[in-house]
Amino acid sequence: MKALTYIEHGKFALLDKPKPEILDPRDAVVRVTLGSICTSDLHIKHGSVPRAVPGITVGHEMVGVVESVGSAVTAVQPGDRVTVNVETFCGECFFCKHGFVNNCTDPNGGWALGCRIDGGQAEFVRVPYADQGLNKIPDSVTDEQALFVGDVLATGFWAARISEITVDDTVLIIGAGPTGICTLLCVMLRKPKRIIVCEKDPARIAFVREHYPEVLVCEPENCKEFTLANSDHNGADVVLEVAGAKDTFRLAWECARPNAIVTVVALYDEAQALPLPDMYGKNLIFKTGGVDGCDCAEILALIEAGKIDTTPLITHRYRLEDIEEAYHLFENRLDGVIKVAITMPKA
Ligand SMILES: [Zn+2]
Ligand SMILES: [Zn+2]
Repeated sequence: MKALTYIEHGKFALLDKPKPEILDPRDAVVRVTLGSICTSDLHIKHGSVPRAVPGITVGHEMVGVVESVGSAVTAVQPGDRVTVNVETFCGECFFCKHGFVNNCTDPNGGWALGCRIDGGQAEFVRVPYADQGLNKIPDSVTDEQALFVGDVLATGFWAARISEITVDDTVLIIGAGPTGICTLLCVMLRKPKRIIVCEKDPARIAFVREHYPEVLVCEPENCKEFTLANSDHNGADVVLEVAGAKDTFRLAWECARPNAIVTVVALYDEAQALPLPDMYGKNLIFKTGGVDGCDCAEILALIEAGKIDTTPLITHRYRLEDIEEAYHLFENRLDGVIKVAITMPKA
């Protein structure tokens, strides 16, 4: 089968590899039907994910059809259409039992697919702990509708869930990239009084204005002023920092009202300062980290009910054989790209 492979720093290549096999009774092999490219794939390519293993197949956003299952798998069977979770988790350790699946203590717990073990920018993928890692896609939900459930949409859903948003809140979301927009969609489900999105890219601003006209939009330069002017208590009640740019962490806590929750979803290239003397008396609550991707069934039900629609994010479509072209477009943010969908060859 064809599989996009991490060769070395700066280089991916589409190679011929053997089809994956079941290695553990809890594994499933999935025939990938549709995949995508995530910014984290670019991080691997550029060498900023040291734990990424050269030679692995990259890709961790995909949907497909179960091809085979190990003897201990009970939740899915061959022929089921499924979403694949970016995170591998056992479901049994202390962290999994508390819903903190990102911290699963299994050696492959957390983000392993397409990083430490072979991922899904390929015709087939082996998924460990298939009972946890796969969710059946309802018949009325298309592959494109379900494509982001296991990664960026799971991240947005988790971020909105932990941010304790109420209907009286002014919520500020910093960053309107793919994860920022998924976060926006999940924040909207909680019906806060106001949502402000801060973004600097004109194409992304236009996207938000076109698709979500009820949302207020500002730019980093006037974000603090704008948020103060458009909130009831001298700042946002909840801030979600999804941008991860040089100054956006500072912007996040500066725009928060006293006693606000600041949720940091972003992954930074550099360490960030927490200048406690400057924020003394603001009594902020910071929540940080990587997605606990354990809400996929709930997210699929919301898609089925028409409450979440991420299909406008798919701006470009490619076939697996042209995936290097798709990377070029995505990496250089050409032609207003937000997300690409990669169609796999029919088995
Ligand atoms: Zn990702
Ligand atoms: Zn676990």
